[in-house]
Amino acid sequence: MVRSMKPSKPHWSQTSSRLMNACPRAWAITYGTTTGHFRSAKRPLPNPPRTFDDLLTRSMRTTWLRRLSDQYQRKVWSTPYAKRTFDNTVDDAIDHLNMTVPPLHLEMGKYRSIKQLRLLEQSQTLRPLFTGEPRRWAYFDRRKSAEVRGIEVYAAPDVAVFHQHRWTLVRLQFRSSRRPLLGQQLEHLLMIHWARSQPGFPEDLAAYRVKVVRWQAHRWKEHTVEVSQELLDQSMALMAHDAQEMKWLQRWACADPSFASLPLASHHEECHTCPHRPNCPAKNGLASAKRAQEKMLVSRDQSEATKSANTA
Ligand code: SF4
Repeated sequence: MVRSMKPSKPHWSQTSSRLMNACPRAWAITYGTTTGHFRSAKRPLPNPPRTFDDLLTRSMRTTWLRRLSDQYQRKVWSTPYAKRTFDNTVDDAIDHLNMTVPPLHLEMGKYRSIKQLRLLEQSQTLRPLFTGEPRRWAYFDRRKSAEVRGIEVYAAPDVAVFHQHRWTLVRLQFRSSRRPLLGQQLEHLLMIHWARSQPGFPEDLAAYRVKVVRWQAHRWKEHTVEVSQELLDQSMALMAHDAQEMKWLQRWACADPSFASLPLASHHEECHTCPHRPNCPAKNGLASAKRAQEKMLVSRDQSEATKSANTA
């Protein structure tokens, strides 16, 4: 039976882009299937958290979204309620994943995360939402996509605040990123492309500010990202380039459903917490797996060259 291969619509999300750059093989396994049908790009896949830290970060995000949703409806959270909500979110996730976490480690992790969430409400950018200062604002789930020039883009701001005739699009980073600064700045600017494609947001570039609130060295640091047409164009080019690479990788994986010829991780650190490691040639070391792959590709090329010479 010949399977039809429907190419999925190009998509871009920070998670997908980072995974592709970190390990093309892991990207292909996560976003593709060996049957040749790539999973719908409609929604980024809910990969289970790999570590307890991952689980805490996701629980903070989930709790934060609930907190904002209630705050939007003017429902105030007491401190015990905030703690209970977060604790329940973490406990449910641990149960769901059957994860074992030593009790002291668990309590310390919850304590640190609740403190992190409380400090977030006190950040300069977000404080006005909690102190009743007059602002128009909206919050979004990052999994809400928008179509930008034919690409399904997952770049919704976490919060958008209207003040002094401008929208401030806010990106929250619950933990610091290893991505180079310029790449990150360009990614943050994708929020403007996303907003412009939404009803209710202006087209005029001058009507936007972009702010990043990120957790680093035990505190929230806030900075403003420069906005210009030139940088906006660069961010669009970055996204288009990523989408093109994904398309190419998707084709490659369809042509080689064993994934044996797909590039492996750029750095061995990527393999440490990779869920695909048990079935990966790199399970006993990335460097040796790369050497073996190179040999396999060379010998395959040679046998194909011999075949075509014989048929010529
Ligand atoms: S174990 Fe390493 S090389 Fe293999 S898929 Fe995971 S990140 Fe990529």
